[in-house]
This record gives sequence, structure tokens and C-alpha cells, in this order.
Amino acid sequence: MLIVQKYGGTSVGNLERIDEVAKRVIKTKEQGNDVVVVVSAMSGETNKLIEYAKYFTDNPPKREMDLLLSSGERVTSSLLAIALTSKGHKATALTGRQAGIYTDNIHTGARIDKIDANKIKSHLKKGEIVVVAGFQGITNDGEVSTLGRGGSDLSAVAIAGALRADLCEIYTDVDGVYTTDPRIEPKARKLDMISYDEMLELASLGAKVLQNRSVELAKKLDVNLVTRSSFNDNEGTLITKEENIMEQPLVSGIALDKNQARVTLRGVKDEPGIAAKIFNRLAKENINVDMIIQNVGLDGVTNLGFTVPENELDGAKKVMYELNASELLEFDPKIVKVSVVGVGMQSHSGVASKAFDTLAKENINIQMISTSEIKVSMVIDEKYGELAVRALHEAYHLDRAE
Ligand code: ASP
Ligand code: MG
Repeated sequence: MLIVQKYGGTSVGNLERIDEVAKRVIKTKEQGNDVVVVVSAMSGETNKLIEYAKYFTDNPPKREMDLLLSSGERVTSSLLAIALTSKGHKATALTGRQAGIYTDNIHTGARIDKIDANKIKSHLKKGEIVVVAGFQGITNDGEVSTLGRGGSDLSAVAIAGALRADLCEIYTDVDGVYTTDPRIEPKARKLDMISYDEMLELASLGAKVLQNRSVELAKKLDVNLVTRSSFNDNEGTLITKEENIMEQPLVSGIALDKNQARVTLRGVKDEPGIAAKIFNRLAKENINVDMIIQNVGLDGVTNLGFTVPENELDGAKKVMYELNASELLEFDPKIVKVSVVGVGMQSHSGVASKAFDTLAKENINIQMISTSEIKVSMVIDEKYGELAVRALHEAYHLDRAE
């Protein structure tokens, strides 16, 4: 098999850890696999470099920031190659440029345009382990670029896609994807498998294990992802396409998004163009609207509600006052969004009603509801967020495998 392994910051956090990673890579290699390793900077290193720059100015030139920040991953990639060599294995470290990762020219937030994997392939052909510095690439003008914070995941997925690798393993300090946050519900269970779409819902809803952009890219490139821990030998969670998951559970997980705020406009004029006006303005101000609820109007007026990230509430307020679309504005940052996620609900009824029942039994009022094919989201008072998660986890029997 051809396996891409990506090790995050804590996995390569110090020299002993890099030594441990080297042993794991060698084990994979000795099982007869070709291995490409992608590494992050040592944990804390990227932040430290940013602080260094901030000593001089709050607004450092982005081109130079890319040069600076890309150095963190170069350190770990070369050290890992040195460690592998010291253990008698042939290994070559490559920068993003050397690995053929071409990006657009948006410094500090570049997108990968294409990958020329020939150099990686030629090293693999010689039986070498290839270690690539994550998070970085090269623009068409030959400038060093970086992919945005957490971007090493993206490097690994893109390389796995370009090489048509059998597997892309993302190593962190957690065992995989859980049915919910184990800090909220200790009975949370690690999932063996989950579909890309479920993962995207769980991640965007707050269960942060993997960068969302990486999951989207994996889905697009059809890369089988595994997230697992580099601190033990537990099997992780496979993130793959829906068709590969034989027994689809009705519900895979419960997510809690605390970073939400609610905006409600009462008595809005019920006529064409009002929603367009409001949401165009919000989009122009780069405010990310999530749930939107509007009902059929009565007597020429209607109510409109939507949610935004909590830190964008002030921006949303400003827009609402400027537009003057409603006399009765309400802003509530003290809400959370609880979501029940599962591909199985596409073909089964009763999943949503069970969620409402469960919250009703706990006497939790639901302020807003929205659904998609694979999720039911409910906005509730933030006081009850964790209680709701535990009750729903129990209601769908997520503590035991079906
Ligand atoms: N070192 C970079 C960061 O901290 C990239 C990464 O770790 O994925 O954002
Ligand atoms: Mg990361």
C-alpha cells in the first residue's frame, strides 16, 4: 500500500516525540508499504514565530510572514528525515516547493492549485521514505506561500490525492472522532467509521478534530482519511464515502456549537426583496449567516430569525440598525446550537421527532429548528447545551455500538 501519514504539532512536539514518530514510520514501512510523511511544526512553534514578528509590528508583510512561518515545518521535516536515516533507513526531506505543491499567490492563506508529484514518486521508487514539510507551497512566481493555520492537514490530503494513496492517516493527540465531546458526555464512544458529510457537519458544529477544508478536499479527491493518535496504537476513525459504510447508524453523533448568536426581526414588511436586502448586506460585511427562519406572513408583516457566529454579532447588529428593517429587534448571544447528525436519517423517519421529544422531557425550550438530509439542528438557551447533548446521546443509544 501507499500510505501518507501526517503528524501534527503535539506528535512532533519535541525530539523524543520525533524519535517516536520515526519508529512508527519505520514500522509502517517495514510492513511493506511505501510511506510519505507530512509534518506540522513542533507545537507552539508557529505561534512563537508570529509573536516574534509582532515584536516589530502588528502588521508584518505577508510575504515575509510566509517565509518565516514555513520554517517551522522545515525544521520538523528535516529532523524527522535525520532521525529515520540514523535508524538505518533511507529518507529524504522536501520543502513544499521541492514536493511540487503549487498554490495561488494569496500569502498566509494560499490555496493549492496543483501538485506535481514526480519528485516524490521518484524518491519513493528508490525505496526512500519521503518527508514533506506541511502547510506550505510555492506560487507560480516562485514565492513561498502558506495555506492558513492548521494547513498541514490540507498538504497531506492533497498529496494523498495526487499520489492516489490508499490511505491518508492524520495523527494527533486524540484517538479519533467521537459520538460527542467526551468532556461533556464521558460515555461518548469512538466511531470506527464516518462519512465525509457527517464529519463536515460534526466539525462545523464544533467537534473539532480535523480542519474542515481538509475533509472537503478529501471528499473531492476521494481520499480515505483516518484520524488516530500517535500516542498509542488504538485504531482511529476512518472517514470515507457513504457507500463504503456498510451499516449506517441512524445517528452518528451529537454536536454542540457554543459560538452562535441569534438575531430576530419582528414585524418585518412581508414583500419581495426584503430577505435579499438583509442577507446581501450581511454577506457584504462578511458576516456568516447560518440558520435562517422565516414564516408565512400575516397582515403584511412577518418574523425573520437567523444565527451568526457570536463574534460577528456586533457586525450584524450594526447592519440591522442601519437597514432599519424592523422596529422590534432582538439579539441573543446566550444561545447554543445542538445538532443530531447521521446519514441514516435520510431513509428513516422519526429521528427529528425523537430529538424534540427528548428536549421536551428535559423541559428545554427549542427556539429555532433547521434540518438537512443528514442533520437536525436546534437552537436552545446556552444554559441547557450540555444537558441537551447528554440527553440526546442517551436517547439515540450512542454509548453502545448498534
Ligand atoms: N504549523 C501550522 C499551524 O500551526 C500548520 C499546522 O500545524 O497544520 O497552523
Ligand atoms: Mg492541526
